[in-house]
Amino acid sequence: MVPDKRVKVLVPGKQELDAIFMDMYKETEASRHIDCSCCGYSTCELMAAAIYNGVNKKENCIHYIKALAEIESIVDTQACCGCGSDRCGR
Ligand code: SF4
Repeated sequence: MVPDKRVKVLVPGKQELDAIFMDMYKETEASRHIDCSCCGYSTCELMAAAIYNGVNKKENCIHYIKALAEIESIVDTQACCGCGSDRCGR
C-alpha cells in the first residue's frame, strides 16, 4: 500500500485573514495589497494564508519589519528626556 503523502492546505476565511493582517500591522486595504513578493509569495494574501497554515511567519514580511522598526523608533524617542542621547534612560 502506498502511503498518503498529500498535504492539506487550509484556506483562511475573511475573519482569519483579517486577524492575521492586523497582526502584521496591515490595517488598510492598500497595505494588504502591497504584493511586493519580498516574502516569496506573489501577494500579501498568499503570505497570510501561509501564516495561517503555519508554514511562514509575519517576521518574514519586509513591511512588517519596517512598521515594527518605526513603532520602536517612536517608543525610543518618547523614552528620551529630550537630551537626544540614544542611551537616555530619563
Ligand atoms: S513581503 Fe509583506 S508586503 Fe511584500 S508581498 Fe509579502 S506579505 Fe506582502
